[in-house]
Amino acid sequence: MPTPVADIVCPACGAPAQLSDVGCPACDKHLGYPNVRACQTSGEEASLQAKYVGAKEECQKRGCGDQFLQFSEAVQENSRAIIGRPLGEIDRLVSSERDVHGTYYQMLDAGLKLPDDEEWSRLRHQADEALFSGYHKHISFALLSLTDVGSTYYGSWFLAFRADTIEGRSSVFLENSAWHVKKCNYTSSELRDMPKGLRAVWDDRGKLAATKRMSDITETTCEQDHPGLLFSPGEQGWDADFVEVHIYGPWNVHSVEKVVHVTNTAAPAPTTGRAARAAKGKAAETAALQQKLGDLGIPYEEACL
Ligand SMILES: [Zn+2]
Repeated sequence: MPTPVADIVCPACGAPAQLSDVGCPACDKHLGYPNVRACQTSGEEASLQAKYVGAKEECQKRGCGDQFLQFSEAVQENSRAIIGRPLGEIDRLVSSERDVHGTYYQMLDAGLKLPDDEEWSRLRHQADEALFSGYHKHISFALLSLTDVGSTYYGSWFLAFRADTIEGRSSVFLENSAWHVKKCNYTSSELRDMPKGLRAVWDDRGKLAATKRMSDITETTCEQDHPGLLFSPGEQGWDADFVEVHIYGPWNVHSVEKVVHVTNTAAPAPTTGRAARAAKGKAAETAALQQKLGDLGIPYEEACL
């Protein structure tokens, strides 16, 4: 008989459970979300706290301790998880309260998606196995923002999440985790035991972001600089720099706080031909979506690039 892997013990019945379990396999008591539990181990919490204290002291020595704390507090109090998607995907979610968002792996399993570019697909898989071993299919990816707008690489429509629908099941990671794996070039054994202090529970996102940005904070850093410290679009889109948010489980239109559509006002609007007809069609789709959002009581905003 195989020996069970007793990563955790159910507080209700004492049965062994694995880190990836959400419900106790013996009594089905809810054990918490595995990505959040992973951030609550003593090693992770102590490492992040030590890094945060070290960063704060370093900034105090440089005369920008207050600015460090202000950025940390701004992220903690005002940042939201956002996700960028194309219009069609937003429309599907908004059109039915019974439609939920499918994660990348759920879409692959359902045959509704093909793997992404080979290298990124491999890196994504490595990062997901390292961070979410046994439960990666349940994780949706978002990013932290202070403006509710991120990179338009994945679409020009942004959903900002209602904190109360995700805060208990979300964790945050230092940066794009696939990019992190590429950059650090970990060995297989390093991937199985990633460095500590790179991830945090939702309520520690301010600490993680400020620690990450410590060297960019100066005595002239002010409130206007905070959005750019938290999110940088990069040059190609895929190289955007952000704090990644990992949300466990399904979400739907009622998880959404607001929708922001980013338009490129620098591009002249076509007045004739096929491009003009396409623009007219898109404007009609946008108006229809706006109407649906209005019916659901979800605020809608336009923003310019
Ligand atoms: Zn139990």
